[in-house]
Amino acid sequence: MPSSAIIPSSVINPSPAIITVAITGSVGQKRHNPAIPITVEEQVAATRAAFEAGASLAHLHVRRDDGAPTSDPALFERLGRGIREACPGMIVQFSTGGRSGTGSERGGMLHLEPDMASLSTGSVNFPGRVYENHPVLIRELAAKMKAHGVKPEIEVFDLSMLYRALDLVEEGLIEGPLHVQFVMGVQNAMPAVRQAFDFMADELERLMPEATWTGAGIGRHHFEVLGWALSRGGHARTGLEDNIRLDRDVLAPSNAALVERVAAMCADLGRSVATAQEARTLLHLP
Ligand code: ZN
Repeated sequence: MPSSAIIPSSVINPSPAIITVAITGSVGQKRHNPAIPITVEEQVAATRAAFEAGASLAHLHVRRDDGAPTSDPALFERLGRGIREACPGMIVQFSTGGRSGTGSERGGMLHLEPDMASLSTGSVNFPGRVYENHPVLIRELAAKMKAHGVKPEIEVFDLSMLYRALDLVEEGLIEGPLHVQFVMGVQNAMPAVRQAFDFMADELERLMPEATWTGAGIGRHHFEVLGWALSRGGHARTGLEDNIRLDRDVLAPSNAALVERVAAMCADLGRSVATAQEARTLLHLP
């Protein structure tokens, strides 16, 4: 007998797909792809074009003018304000990722009350470094997000991080339902393996059926992982942070071009692209 408990409702009634655009990141430079926006002015213009192409959520890092990553709250403030003006309703998500600062500094902009902020719930190896997220820091960042009404996006770079995020909901440090992003293809972390992807999505749907989730494929696995996510009711993340190419030989001319490609994938898979308002409803944001 078919049971709704084992068939996620998202598969039966595919909801609109939220396209996140990660415009800049903390690693890529103009020498890798000249379209990577670095200054706040470039970032606002790139986000606006991506918004017009269908992105409803902007994942944001800030850079100094020389391209170095930073977590300077003054830059986040200018960027957040610029995007709110240029892209009405778009969801603003600040990164608390580890290249832009150390320890508490990484949450130094949360008082600006973005709609969302990224939160990694464990440590993992990255190319050439450890991406360290001490349990004490994870709790500190989660508590600060909660105090400022910022919804975390859980960055799952390894399986344990999924279960740790569910623990934090249980403990009351994060308000459910979770929004989780499965990140695959980072060298030294979780590879882009379909079985691993399906296992994580199955586990989240089993343990928190009301959660929302996104697939993020890094580098050459980018569009493959997005296809896995979109075809089973998840959401998609693209942008020059994750992938600088349209295909093996062609650099993406802009963040918007990547969003257009993902919007076309949504159409092929029978998913509509969420408006900013629909994305807010799906993510339980005001
Ligand atoms: Zn990021």
